[in-house]
Amino acid sequence: MGTIIALIILIILLITLWPLALALGIGYGLYRLIRYFRKEKYFRSESFLEHKAAIKFAVDEYNDLANYVNSFGELSLTSTANDRFKYAHLASTENTSKHNINRERNTKTVSHNVHQTSLSVVKKAAEEPFKYLTKYFDLKPNEENLNHIQEMAETISRFSNAKTNLNERLAKIEADFNPPKFIKKHYYKELLEKLSIRVPEIHFSIPHYYFEYVSAGGNSSQRTTIKLDEDTLEALAEYLSERIKISKSAKAQRSLMTKKLREFIKNRDSYTCQICSASIAEQSLLLLEVDHIIPVSKGGLSIEDNLQTLCWKCNRSKSNKTA
Ligand SMILES: [Zn+2]
Repeated sequence: MGTIIALIILIILLITLWPLALALGIGYGLYRLIRYFRKEKYFRSESFLEHKAAIKFAVDEYNDLANYVNSFGELSLTSTANDRFKYAHLASTENTSKHNINRERNTKTVSHNVHQTSLSVVKKAAEEPFKYLTKYFDLKPNEENLNHIQEMAETISRFSNAKTNLNERLAKIEADFNPPKFIKKHYYKELLEKLSIRVPEIHFSIPHYYFEYVSAGGNSSQRTTIKLDEDTLEALAEYLSERIKISKSAKAQRSLMTKKLREFIKNRDSYTCQICSASIAEQSLLLLEVDHIIPVSKGGLSIEDNLQTLCWKCNRSKSNKTA
């Protein structure tokens, strides 16, 4: 009885309210249509095109810088690939166990960055990461490896420096442009497209190295991870440097490249490019980098006399010439 009454009430409600629902639907459709035409009108308007022309320079520079960032090299601990895995890509491993799908996660990983080892080494590597990293990834304390570690640290530093700069530039372009609120809210992607801003996909990742133990049956596994970020690499360079036997050559007296030294050089050069004289004082968003006057590959040292501040454009054309 109760359900029949409820059903009757529902039917009455539907009969009386459907015009309201229809009106709401039409209203919303109309709203979307009007918004669409407003948007189209905005993107064709004089003021939009004027604004677009005004920020063209900043946008072009932004895109150019993004390409530059993507040209930074790949990062790997050993400069020449380890022969051990030379043919690894020709074989594949799969877990053939039918009993436990979860075992998938305990399959061994074959990669340059993973060292398969015993549980005790995995644990010790967590206590003394550099000792085990240098031992098992064949990173002998010598000048060549030290230079390579310093190069990696430099690339990471340049990358994070440039990325911060890119974000600041995009924020500034947006602030300068200041589009109508409804455009920003509903048509943001289209706005970037219309302004030819290609927010770049940046292909860059900080390398991780692993010590991994997987039990014979594949039931348990444990990992120690070493993330080679800028700070870790700086400490690793110091570690290697301490272990390089003091030779009588001048190279042994080299100083290490550090965040602090980089900041010192920029400050010494008054945040001014030593080739084109562009400076932070005039362009707040200028990306500055610290350059080895004589490249490390040609025996240049990380000492004050051999370091200079360059803007990214001058640095780019200098490295294109030397390459
Ligand atoms: Zn310059």
